[in-house]
Amino acid sequence: MFFTKEEFIKDQKVIAKYFLNVLETDKLPQAILLYGEENAPLKEVGMYISQSIYCESKSLACNTCQSCQRFLNGNHPDFTLLDGKNALIKKGDIDQLAAFYSMSNLEDNKKSTYIINRIENITEDALNALLKFLEEPNSDVLAIITTTNRHKVLPTILSRCQIFQVQAKDPILLVDNYKGEIPLDRYYYLSNLAYSDKEKEEINNSNEFDFAYKSVINYLEAIYKSKENSSLSLFVDIVDLFKQVSKKSGFNNNKCYNYFYSMLSISFKDAVLEKDNPLKQITSKLAKYKTNLARAISFLMDMDFKLQANLNFTLILAKLGKIIEE
Ligand SMILES: [Zn+2]
Repeated sequence: MFFTKEEFIKDQKVIAKYFLNVLETDKLPQAILLYGEENAPLKEVGMYISQSIYCESKSLACNTCQSCQRFLNGNHPDFTLLDGKNALIKKGDIDQLAAFYSMSNLEDNKKSTYIINRIENITEDALNALLKFLEEPNSDVLAIITTTNRHKVLPTILSRCQIFQVQAKDPILLVDNYKGEIPLDRYYYLSNLAYSDKEKEEINNSNEFDFAYKSVINYLEAIYKSKENSSLSLFVDIVDLFKQVSKKSGFNNNKCYNYFYSMLSISFKDAVLEKDNPLKQITSKLAKYKTNLARAISFLMDMDFKLQANLNFTLILAKLGKIIEE
């Protein structure tokens, strides 16, 4: 189950209110864009809205009717999920989707929907095909698009969407209630990186996260221990270590880089905001470099790591070092 109706109304007030109305009046918007942080339930909210479109209750999904059961079992025939979180979305995927949803294999007047999760992970070809498809709206089909980076979504897509922010649970509250065995600073990072416990566990058990986590802690410590020369020497150390570890079979470099950058951003933000949380021991020592850290954050945000991480890692760390050293 993705949400109960009550949970959804409580956790995602604005979206729930909007869809209660949509489902009642039976008039679908052409497309919606769900955006939020890495730890926001983007896919889950998209799935629950989709389930609601098919639910026999004509309201937010009841989780009990036959249609809901079918949806929750993962075999609803009229529904498609393209998940950019698992694999790059390619033109073939969009062509298939367009063929399916424009064909009359969808019954007349029957509403249906599809999700494109993490549209930032789409090829240019596929994006063009999607734009073309969106130009021929079908009032019975709702497109649900999600992203963690709203500013990277093309205006031509944005202009076709109703836009909603998906609320995430506050990582600090999660840490306060945490009773497991993971060290709290590590759990705090995980709570910033993923929504579900299952996903947090998967990330926590991966070599990529483990290495990125240790590197971030070392990096942060080196910054405050000797700010004058740390960044550059540490940057060389980290690049060397990455080179060694990345030779291990099955090690996904890009994944590791992305964890590393995300955790750095989180730490810098917390240092700038002087947050009281499990990272405080380290971030409070960095607070005096606020101006530099703020610039480092915008630098990290501006880079399109997801597509270029592998090529630019050395360069990115060098630039970052420079910004912090200044
Ligand atoms: Zn139902």
